[in-house]
Amino acid sequence: MRFNHSNKHIRDAIRYAESKNWRVTKAGPRAHIWGKLWCPRRARDGCRTQVLSTPRNPELHARDIRRYIDRCPHTGNNITINNGEAHYESA
Ligand SMILES: [Zn+2]
Repeated sequence: MRFNHSNKHIRDAIRYAESKNWRVTKAGPRAHIWGKLWCPRRARDGCRTQVLSTPRNPELHARDIRRYIDRCPHTGNNITINNGEAHYESA
């Protein structure tokens, strides 16, 4: 499923998250939180970060999101890419 953020920088960051097999969930329509990104570790100690609807500085917010993704120790673990589709084993 694909969600579109209204800001280009943040859309790119979300696409980056998806390319790293992060999951995207959308918040309610009135929330100032746009949604959440969840790391590939589907467990309580997995990483998650919020995406704001209208951050004051979207470019900076997008960069923070990417930095958070890059810091995740679970991304890239137990993942095989098959025809562009990610398959991960639960740890
Ligand atoms: Zn993680």
